[in-house]
Amino acid sequence: TNRKSINEFFSQHLSFPFLQYKEHLHVARGEGQFIYDTNGKRYLDFFAGIVTVGVGHCHPRLIEAATKQMKKYWHLSTYYLQDSVRDYAENLLEHFQDDKHLSVCLFVNSGSEANDLALHLAKEYTKQSEVITLRNSYHGVIQSTLCLTNIAGFKRSYLTGSRVAMTPDPYRGIWGGQYCRDSPIQTTRSCNCQKDHCQASDRYKVAGMFIESIQGYGGSVQYPKNYVKKATELVQQNGGLYIADEVQSGFGRTGTHFWGYQGHGAKPDIVVMAKAIANGFPFAAVVTRPEIAKTVGNYFNTYGGNPIGCAVASAVLDVIKEEKLQENSLRVGTHLLEKLAKLRDQLPNVIGDVRGKGLFIGVEMVTDKESRKPYPIEKMNAILNRCRDNGLLLGKGGNFGNVFRIKPPMCITIEDADFALNVLEDAIRKEL
Ligand code: PMP
Repeated sequence: TNRKSINEFFSQHLSFPFLQYKEHLHVARGEGQFIYDTNGKRYLDFFAGIVTVGVGHCHPRLIEAATKQMKKYWHLSTYYLQDSVRDYAENLLEHFQDDKHLSVCLFVNSGSEANDLALHLAKEYTKQSEVITLRNSYHGVIQSTLCLTNIAGFKRSYLTGSRVAMTPDPYRGIWGGQYCRDSPIQTTRSCNCQKDHCQASDRYKVAGMFIESIQGYGGSVQYPKNYVKKATELVQQNGGLYIADEVQSGFGRTGTHFWGYQGHGAKPDIVVMAKAIANGFPFAAVVTRPEIAKTVGNYFNTYGGNPIGCAVASAVLDVIKEEKLQENSLRVGTHLLEKLAKLRDQLPNVIGDVRGKGLFIGVEMVTDKESRKPYPIEKMNAILNRCRDNGLLLGKGGNFGNVFRIKPPMCITIEDADFALNVLEDAIRKEL
């Protein structure tokens, strides 16, 4: 036949903006923490479909849950009472034992949609239109959430409606280098944080503040101790809501807590979740207080709360608990962090910073540790490609594209971690 090769077809008929490998990887199947290409070669998947396949590929429990539900009905809409929706909401709300005021679930289909809904709720509830987000944050790419997202490549001059606060990045410091220390939240639109703008958050009324509990696409950036708690309390004291974006940091990945915000001792008004929620089945949720949920008004979402999604998502919660995946995240994540920190100290210059929590890890690459100049993209790609050749798939992010992101399925073992460390070290050393 004269059918085009898959490479050719993808380049001509599909948009593929984030392909990172020299030779594209044609995947045949996935199993646990591994995926296999069409030649049968096995790869350790350390990016889990962009931090989504939390319990591993093709988990039998999830397949069983989905199949069972599929045989009953696939879709009914929000017009009907459905056991799968109730069972899931009940199961999910059990994970808010410390925040029992968060007792209403709203189901949608993606992280962007969930943040869009959170934005809608915050505006409706507070009757304010502006929100605060952090520099280098990522909250989605539909038009409303593009106003929240603030990382290189996604900024647009015509997007309005949010004020950007500087991220207190412990490694790279604060945006623009000028930092007024009087207040934990400093807002500015585009200038270099003149005094006026520094004080803006205390004067302006805002609908709320969106914070990823650890910055994901921004490069696994962790905030200084107490920052999230103090900043969000200030917002709340001024009538705004704290929206915790748990799209990447939720479902046990950070190891110490089920939700990332719990690690900050913070108390969100709205929690946004997606990705690992249903291990890659399109599903997302917003959990909030009843009085906030009530302001949703004429919102409608045809697929929201899809029964198969609910069945899969419920199985995800059960698997995380039964297989102790949160505990495993902490154990294997700590091992990885310790070994990576050693590697940072052993290698001359290239690894500037190793950071993270549980299996939410960032390795920031620099040309030299003194200047912290970001490592060139070509060298980042060379390392990624070498890792891939040797059976390891990693993620990449950060404002300068110079952070390796390690966020594997939470079922990885210490042996997997050691394999990955060897492959990564070897790939980096070849670049020295
Ligand atoms: N929030 C965060 C923290 C994310 O990382 C992402 C996706 N990378 C989103 C929101 C948007 O999710 P989605 O791609 O499902 O729209």
